[in-house]
Amino acid sequence: MEHDPTARPSLNRRTLLGLGAAVGLTALLAACAPKETAQAGNSPKPVFDRAGLPTGLKGSALLPGDPGYADEIKTYNLLMAPQPGVIIAAADASDVQAGVRLAAERGAPVAVLATGHQLSAPIGPDTVLITTRAMRGVTVDAQRRVARAEAGVRWGQVVDESVKVGLAPLNGSTPIVGVVGYTLGGGLSPTMGRAYGYAADHVRSVDVVTADGRLRTVTAETDPDLFFAVRGGKSNFGVVTAIEFDLFPVKTLYGGAIMFDGADAGKVLHAYREWVKTVPDEMSSSVALMRMPDVAAVPEPLRGKFVTSVRISYIGSPKSGAKLLGPLRGAAKPIIDAVHEMPYSDFATIHADPVDAAPIYERTGLLKELTAETVDELLAAAGPTASFPITMTEIRHLGGALGRQPAQPNAVSNRDAAFTLFVASVGTPADAAAIKKAEADIIRRMQPWSTGGMYLNFMAGEDVAPEAVQRAYQPDVYQRLVAVKRKVDPTNMFRLNHNIKPA
Ligand SMILES: Cc1cc2nc3c(=O)[nH]c(=O)nc-3n(C[C@H](O)[C@H](O)[C@H](O)COP(=O)(O)OP(=O)(O)OC[C@H]3O[C@@H](n4cnc5c(N)ncnc54)[C@H](O)[C@@H]3O)c2cc1C
Repeated sequence: MEHDPTARPSLNRRTLLGLGAAVGLTALLAACAPKETAQAGNSPKPVFDRAGLPTGLKGSALLPGDPGYADEIKTYNLLMAPQPGVIIAAADASDVQAGVRLAAERGAPVAVLATGHQLSAPIGPDTVLITTRAMRGVTVDAQRRVARAEAGVRWGQVVDESVKVGLAPLNGSTPIVGVVGYTLGGGLSPTMGRAYGYAADHVRSVDVVTADGRLRTVTAETDPDLFFAVRGGKSNFGVVTAIEFDLFPVKTLYGGAIMFDGADAGKVLHAYREWVKTVPDEMSSSVALMRMPDVAAVPEPLRGKFVTSVRISYIGSPKSGAKLLGPLRGAAKPIIDAVHEMPYSDFATIHADPVDAAPIYERTGLLKELTAETVDELLAAAGPTASFPITMTEIRHLGGALGRQPAQPNAVSNRDAAFTLFVASVGTPADAAAIKKAEADIIRRMQPWSTGGMYLNFMAGEDVAPEAVQRAYQPDVYQRLVAVKRKVDPTNMFRLNHNIKPA
């Protein structure tokens, strides 16, 4: 029977948002995590004293133990547990400059934190941590189809402002990820990435405070090398205070998730690998093998189950979208088929990512192809009968505009990859060794199909080792980044990140 693209699925938005929250319930596990991770550091030694802190801030300077310090270091990934010597809770760009100047005076490293979604480097008592969560300004220029977001803005806020004028950004899967961190790492949009490319490909200008304390507005005209480097080079070149980027005239999506029983994982994955060869650039998609928690908040048909979720976002007509989805819908009988025409503002229901903080162990890689053998090996390593219960293994389809150089080249590399591979598990520190071993096993078993490259935004924890960071860039791009780093951050003040060393 042909699928009616206008039909509302019986289990749709509410189910999927409930699902996201429920997966987040695994954060209950995390209740013990901050205590246990904090053990490693004991009490931080006072490296900064109150007398030496900047004055005249619009935000605040906080030392360990100050009211507000604990709130400011809250993160989404509870494995982060930052313990900076001082926090500059910045309210504007001049506060950021004050933080960078303080670090320069003391020869201290600077770390930057917006939402704490990415575990990149330990933040210890010798560090000046600049937090940006108070920098929440967003403006949308409908005429120019451009938005400007300050450093603490999350995607949900930009989407809310953009849809009011019939536009949409190249946001990530969840509204709570930070716009700046996401964009500086590439920005792989699950809604429109294959149609328009990486978010970094559509940045018009970047306001950045460099290691010398200067606030520079960087564009292709003012500083082509720094403009190239910062779009894909993450926080290696300074603290970004605001970015300006393109919006697209997309009001609705034909999107959502189709969830299949674990027993059908093989049928679905094999259908998916054939299907992706046939789809136009307007179709962005991914497939995830997921273990649903056995808790009441998860809708009954999914509770405690292993499911294969195919996530769809199509920016063409619902009718042609439904036609394109035919082979996937026919792969097996879905538990839920929630793909329907939706306002762009409902984008978060496609992935229904967890919203609660949790201790998350992640690994990643890039695949050049998805063959029958790849799928069989992936199922053996991460499928329903795999020896260790990994929470989620995701394959995202790349290609389309993600595979092409943008009009204004940038540092985002590895555009030859066909898929991202991303593995995530939630667990207490007591589970860490077993989780890490199981995740490493999946990565190892996928090696025959790996491009050898990495995608920066998915690189956390162990994947932030220096040799892994180099793999996020083509060799010529990496050399160009080193040259820019040498020029703008010769002492490697910005090293608590996916670090590119100046020499
Ligand atoms: C649930 C979930 C869903 C995700 N979905 C996607 C997705 O669809 N596509 C995708 O590409 N990525 C995705 N990501 C990855 C995400 O883009 C990265 O984790 C990103 O770095 C998050 O940025 P943040 O500012 O929110 O996090 P934070 O942990 O606060 O920052 C991460 C890093 O970004 C850099 N950074 C942040 N702010 C600044 C600044 N002002 N100046 C300079 N550097 C800065 C720093 O290096 C910092 O260490 C997802 C992550 C999670 C956990």
